[in-house]
Amino acid sequence: LVDDAVRKMKLVAKEHTVRLAVNEPGIIYADPATMRQMMRIFLENAVKYTPAGGHIAVLSHRLPEKGCMELTFADDGIGIAQEDKDKIFERFYRADSARTKKAGSIGGTGLGLSIASWIAEQHEIEIAVESELDKGTKFILTIPLAEDDESDTSDKEG
Ligand code: ATP
Repeated sequence: LVDDAVRKMKLVAKEHTVRLAVNEPGIIYADPATMRQMMRIFLENAVKYTPAGGHIAVLSHRLPEKGCMELTFADDGIGIAQEDKDKIFERFYRADSARTKKAGSIGGTGLGLSIASWIAEQHEIEIAVESELDKGTKFILTIPLAEDDESDTSDKEG
């Protein structure tokens, strides 16, 4: 699913470098349609809030010892101010950095991340944000691995 989402975004975001790095694929239980929607929100934001020529990376790490995988959407775009980090998941909230400064103003309704966080909640996915103004943003998703996936690992290790 991640690979597919990144491929599609590569076709659209011609002015950006978009790359995917997977250390090991992980198995999760999820509704594919809503997971696609969630990934599209993070990818579209990364492209939208990163000036042309910027870089977007999707990094996937399987962490069986923690029973999860981490999926990170990273960009080197306009960034989010510290005081906005908690608010961007609220419906209709748009940070100053998006509304005012760079490239005139960047359009949007402020709904994407509230939908993404709702989808994440349904899947017991945690979302962390690391960001610095003018440096870039990372959305780090911690996704529970399917039980099958975890037991596969313990079999191998044991
Ligand atoms: P829409 O829902 O129409 O896409 P939006 O992008 O404004 O509009 P959200 O996806 O909810 O809405 O994002 C909320 C706010 O979070 C954005 O307005 C922007 O300020 C900030 N934001 C989200 N992703 C990023 C990012 N990758 N870099 C910088 N700011 C971001």
